[in-house]
Amino acid sequence: MSSPVVKSRSMLKRKSMRFVAALMAVLASFVAGPNAALDAAPQYRDQAPGFYRVKVGDLEVTALFDGTGAFDPHWLNGTKATMDGVAKALHEDSHMLDVADTGFLVNTGKQLILVDAGAGTWWGGGAFGRLEGSLHSAGYTPEEVDIVLVTHLHSDHVGGLTTQDGKRVFPNADVYVAKAESDFWLSAEIAAKAPKDAQPFFQSARAIAAPYIKAGKWHTFSGSEPIVDGMQLVPLPGHTPGHTGYEFSSKGQKILFWGDVVHALRVQLQHPEVTAIFDIDQTAAAATRQQLLSKLASEGVLIAGPHMNFPALGRLRREGSGYSWAPVVFTDQWGREPLRED
Ligand SMILES: [Zn+2]
Repeated sequence: MSSPVVKSRSMLKRKSMRFVAALMAVLASFVAGPNAALDAAPQYRDQAPGFYRVKVGDLEVTALFDGTGAFDPHWLNGTKATMDGVAKALHEDSHMLDVADTGFLVNTGKQLILVDAGAGTWWGGGAFGRLEGSLHSAGYTPEEVDIVLVTHLHSDHVGGLTTQDGKRVFPNADVYVAKAESDFWLSAEIAAKAPKDAQPFFQSARAIAAPYIKAGKWHTFSGSEPIVDGMQLVPLPGHTPGHTGYEFSSKGQKILFWGDVVHALRVQLQHPEVTAIFDIDQTAAAATRQQLLSKLASEGVLIAGPHMNFPALGRLRREGSGYSWAPVVFTDQWGREPLRED
């Protein structure tokens, strides 16, 4: 054991060394510039967990972040004047065509229902595919999901269902999709006749659906048959043959999961006639959007739009000859009621 005197001497030595180190750091900061010492804090280079919850009546809806990307202006079809305006606006603000990809979890109190599943590993690059991680961050596991409702079979909405080696990510879930959608994308005959650019959409749809079909977990609907209490099917034709929205109601409140009614919110809300090259029936897609936007703006329905900026939840307001997006703002509805003007 060391004596108290030796101990205090070594402490003194350590203290003086610390003083010298601190002095050196201060001197170094003067050499490097007055704020160098402040710069020592690390940059974390990650974001808050990718989920956001809202209350809709008795339902708890959780937006699940899958990723972000940029929509290519060449993927939009509009008049020359409109598209010239888009090119000019994009030149001034390079973020104007930024998009998100999002899935949504509805906890009814009885069932856990996922609406669209993000891209998984099926949509190029590495920017998408975070939904499963967001689900865990939100406190759930894939095994807990009872039902998956898919708006359509593009891989940015269903890729998260299946791994590349053909395993179901949601092993206990029954998947529901419109029959017209399933029949189209899973048909070998239609795929064979489709243009080369469209082939990957068919291939991914078939690979993603395969393990659910094999397990008897792939279900189609063709009318308005009930799938979940308090949920209505909303056919939204145009983008794809069986493109479908899902409207949940609880205690007089509504939320519509609208799939790909809008891709580029800063273009298509002001110009609902502008379509995306991915819209299989361009005329029907534009007509669906025109009718739906007007109805939703009048009714003030909460919208869950996978490609709107995260958390991809908001309402429409009329603005000029078009509409603007009023996103939900961060609030804790379970803690206390937000203050209202009225
Ligand atoms: Zn999409």
